[in-house]
Formats: sequence, C-alpha cells, structure tokens
Amino acid sequence: MPSTKAVDLAAHPLTAWQGPLGLPDFARIGDGDFSPVFDAALKAHEAEIEAISGNAETPTIENTLAALELAGEALDRVSSIFWCRAGAHTNEAIQALEREISPKMSRHFSAISMNERLFARIDDLYQRRKSLKLDAETLRVLEKTWKSFVRSGAKLDADGKKRLATINEELSSLGTNFGQNVLADERDWALFLDEADLAGLPDFLKSAMAEAAEMRGQKGRYAITLSRSIYEPFTTFSERRDLRETAYRAFTMRGQNGGATDNTEVVRDMLRLRAEKAKLLGYASFAALKLDDTMAKTPKAVHTLLDPVWEKALEKAASDQTQLQRLAAEAGSNEKFAAWDWRFYQEKLRAEKFAFDEAELKPYLQLDRVIDACFDVATRLFGITFEEKKGITAWHPDARVFVVKNADGSERGLFLADYFARPSKRSGAWMSALKSGYKLGDGASPVIYNIMNFAKPPASEAALLSVDEAKTLFHEFGHALHGMLTDVTWPSVSGTSVSRDFVELPSQLYEHWLTVPAVLEKHALHVDTGKPMPKALLDKMLATRTFGAGFATVEFTASALVDMAYHARSDAPEQPLRFEAETLEKLDMPDTIAMRHRTPHFGHVFSGDGYSAGYYSYMWSEVLDADAFAAFEETGDPFDPALAERLRKNIYAAGGSRDPEELYTAFRGKMPSPEAMMVKRGLV
Ligand SMILES: [Zn+2]
Repeated sequence: MPSTKAVDLAAHPLTAWQGPLGLPDFARIGDGDFSPVFDAALKAHEAEIEAISGNAETPTIENTLAALELAGEALDRVSSIFWCRAGAHTNEAIQALEREISPKMSRHFSAISMNERLFARIDDLYQRRKSLKLDAETLRVLEKTWKSFVRSGAKLDADGKKRLATINEELSSLGTNFGQNVLADERDWALFLDEADLAGLPDFLKSAMAEAAEMRGQKGRYAITLSRSIYEPFTTFSERRDLRETAYRAFTMRGQNGGATDNTEVVRDMLRLRAEKAKLLGYASFAALKLDDTMAKTPKAVHTLLDPVWEKALEKAASDQTQLQRLAAEAGSNEKFAAWDWRFYQEKLRAEKFAFDEAELKPYLQLDRVIDACFDVATRLFGITFEEKKGITAWHPDARVFVVKNADGSERGLFLADYFARPSKRSGAWMSALKSGYKLGDGASPVIYNIMNFAKPPASEAALLSVDEAKTLFHEFGHALHGMLTDVTWPSVSGTSVSRDFVELPSQLYEHWLTVPAVLEKHALHVDTGKPMPKALLDKMLATRTFGAGFATVEFTASALVDMAYHARSDAPEQPLRFEAETLEKLDMPDTIAMRHRTPHFGHVFSGDGYSAGYYSYMWSEVLDADAFAAFEETGDPFDPALAERLRKNIYAAGGSRDPEELYTAFRGKMPSPEAMMVKRGLV
C-alpha cells in the first residue's frame, strides 16, 4: 500500500520545482508519483484549512482571507502538472488516475465550501468590510469569496443545506444522463450509402464517410452520421434532396426519439431542480443566480444585446432566403424551399460569388512566421519580448520554452508552447497555466502554456497553417497574454479568472491583429519564394468572412434566446418542448432554419451547468472584441500606443481584480454597443 508519509512535499519534483528556469524537473516525474503526492497535498491543504478555521484570534484579512488564498500551494502544483499531462500527453495510467482524482478533488473542495467555522470567519470580515479600509482589489476578493460560499449554501440551515446537496447531486447525474443519451442517439443512427448516392460530395467528405461506415462494420460503403463534422458538410454538398431531408430530420431530433435515450423528461426535471435551487438561494430565477457574477449581470442586459441582433439577423436571413430560392428555382426545383435546402444553395451562392480556394493561402502561413507575428504584435502593443530557450525538456520534447521579458529587460515569466498533434494529446487548442502570476505573500511569476494540434510535417519541411489554424494560434496566444501580463495581488483574480462572458475578450480581440496588413506584409511570406502575400489574395480572404451571416446568426441567437427563456422564469415549464415551440413562434423563427442546438440535445445547457443561462456569452464576447478593435480602427493606427496602454492596464493586466464593466469602460470610455459586431458579421 502506498504510504503518504513517504512523500516529502518540500522536496518532491512534483511540488518542489527544481528544473531549469524554475520549471518542474519533468524528467524526474514518474506516472506513479501523482497518486501519493496528490494524497499528501490534499492532506496538507486540509491541515492548512483547519489551522485557518480553528484560529482563536479575531479574523483579519491576513490570517483568514490571505491565508486561505495562499493555502494549497502543493496541491496547485501537482494539479497543474497533472492536468497538463492529462490533456497534452496522456496514457492509460494517467487516464485511470483522472477517474480516481476527479471525485477526490470535488469532495475536498465541497468540504471546504461547507466548512461552517471557515465561513463564520469570512462572514465576520464581510460584515465589517466597510470599516476595514480595504483597497478596491482586496474588497472585491473578499466579496467574491463571501458570495461563492453563500452560493454554495453556506447561509442555509441544516435542512436547506441537505436539500441543496441533494439537488446538486441529482442535477449532476441528470446532466450526465443527458449527455450520454445524446451520444447514444448519435452513435446509433447511421445511414449507409453507396457510390451512386454521393453526387456533389467533395473528396474529404467521402473519405470521412467511408471511414465512418467501416467503423460500423460496413467496409466499402459510406455512412451519413450525426456527428456535426459529417452532417454539416453533407447537407452543404449533397445533390440528393431526399437524403438531405433524412439527415436533417435525424440531426434535429437527437435526444427526442422516445425510449430510453429520450431527454424530454431529463430536461423537465433539470429545469424544475434549477428553479428550486435558485429559490432556495434567494434568487428570482436560475438565470439571475447564474448571471450574478458575470459582466451582463441580469437577463435584461442579455436581452438588450440579443434582441436587436435578432431583428437584424431575421431581416438578413429573409433577404438571403429570397436569393437562395431564386437559385433553387433556376436549378429547376419546384419544391417548397425547406430547412434542408439552406446550406446546399448557400454553398452554390458562395461558389458563384467567390471563386476562391483557401489552399492558395497556406504557403504564406508558416508556423514559425505566425508565431513570430504573435510575438511581434505583443511587442508592439505591450513592449514585452520573447526569447526561446533551447534544450529544456518539458512534458514532451515538442514543447518549446520561451522567457518573457518586460520592456526594461527584466524577466516577467515563462511561456511554453506545444504545437503539434500526436496520439497522446486530446484534440482542440487551449491555454492554461502551470503557475498563475500574483503579488500576495512571496508572489509568483506566471508560467503559461498553449497547446495546439497542427499536423507535424517531415523534419525537412516547414509546417504550414490554414487561415483558421493561424487564427486559433492568435486566439490562444491572446488567452496566454491575459495570463502573462497579469498584474494583480490576489491569486484568485489572476489572469483568466474572470467571468464567462468576459474571458474570451482578450483572445478574440487578439485574432484581429492577424489580418492587419502591416502584420501580414512582414510575416506572411511564401514558403518557397519568401515574397509577402499579395494584397488581392488577402482582400478575397477578407471578403468571404461575412458570407452566410443571416443563417449563422439566426441559428445561434435562437438557441441563446431559448436558453434564456427557460431560465429567466421563476418556475419551470411542465412541457419544455412545447415551451420551446411557443418561444420560437413568438420570436417569428423562420421554418427554414433550425436552432443551432435544439433543447433535447443542447449539451452546453443541459449536459452540465457550464453554459446554462450562458449560451449568449459567445456573442457577448464577440460584441466586446469587435467594439474593442473598433477603438483601434478609429485612431487609424492598429498599434496606437496610448490605447494599447489602456488595453494592457485595464484588460490584459487586470484579471478579475475589478468589475468587468468597470474595466471595459476604463479602456474604452464607454460600454460597448452591438453595432461593431453587427458590422463585423455583415448584418448591417
Ligand atoms: Zn478562447
């Protein structure tokens, strides 16, 4: 039996980082180390919490709030390495550990949030907060900490606490059921086709469908499946209207097919429990509870954004539909234009308007030059520079290590980046931190990383990116800057520790600089000739960006509005699907466009709590980034120094140290309006 006594947290390579540049010494970490070190680190954190909550002295910021924030250092360290490995370089041992560690962590943290003596000390400080003469950041951290205890039920009586625990458990298992039901419907449905049924389909889709058929035991045939990566291109390209209709109906009915995998009752129960939870915690609705600590704050503010967008999107979609119907008529169709026709004729229109192949751009987007472009923009905006340190091995030989320096040459932190796909890495792209930056106590400098999944070329060739991949690189680097430029005192408000509807601002905003002409001229150089990307090519690329905005905005916004309608009521609808239909009818939803996610498979909202009453956040962030970049366009200089300094100070460096509305206003001088986003999307 592994003994936790044997682990010396002050010396173990997982918790005492003694590698070069203060990084963990990854070479000395074995997969078998995680479990005993986690156990020891959890114990150490428990002891620290016990010391804080059992302290006989009167609570002070120092002995309670600061002590709580700085506790758990060893647990933070082992966790950050573990989750990095779990995402970027995993194996069976790590995966088994994940299943063991996740419930341990959730029990550990819920015990802390239910610790009555600890809450009594926080509450004591909170009640005296006005007389404590706190600086703004400390006051905010105190308020946030107090609120998060209250939202976890700290102020409820014993019965209330018990009920809340039951609700949370039921919600979590219903959420799991919901997700598994959708997966089962997606897994079980497939339509097998033969060569003769493939009219119109591009090669990449044919090979994906062949692979899907083979996986289902039908080698030599082709399968339409309900995975979005097959469904969407199929309904975009297939000449076979009957098959498009079949696929459309199956896709939009996921989770609503009767039997064991039907989500109708799961949704009804979840909405009921969420309404009860909100009431128990003293909120008017579940949306009010969820929005309380966001930038939007209230359902009303969400509508102030979505309603005008909805109107414009409907207008745009209606005029697009007229054009598409004309194309359909010209193509000889005399059927009533339907939802399974939209993508198909939209693609025909796109091909007619923009004769343009994305592949022409690729030779101009070399990975190393795009990385240079990311760094160069950060230097021009914020004065920081990056210096690669070769020969340091992190979690995998592909991971690269950069020292980040301030304008005066002093060290600011580390940036690690791991760009290439491999079987041990999960798909997608993300940013995370091995260590967050803060000033409290001894302070810490940030160690931030980016993970990508670009195809690795043979050693003699340069890696080339698509435009979307280059955009992803800028996006994740924007998140990384949020972590690296952080300049706050308290760890809990460092870097990306901001609300869900604010966190995508630094990343989505950064994407705008990829297509600034001065940046492309300098860094988008042809891999063979070294010549910059021709202006005509760039213009073509930019022109296609707003195409199809009516459809995309209607399908997205309908889902966001239905999400909000469910959760902004104080009670729960008896029949959620009837409520969905009534809500859409009131909105004048066109019958030729489906919601991007209908209720019975709306995983963002029902397979967990993540984006419940929060699907709007994606568009909220888009409003912020479009409006923020418009500020630079208004000055005529994409690197305007005064504006860049306000951006650094109030957005990239400020983390969650102030209210997001206050931060945004300090940068921009006013709150954003949806105008710039609607222009960017091509709606006005
Ligand atoms: Zn992001």
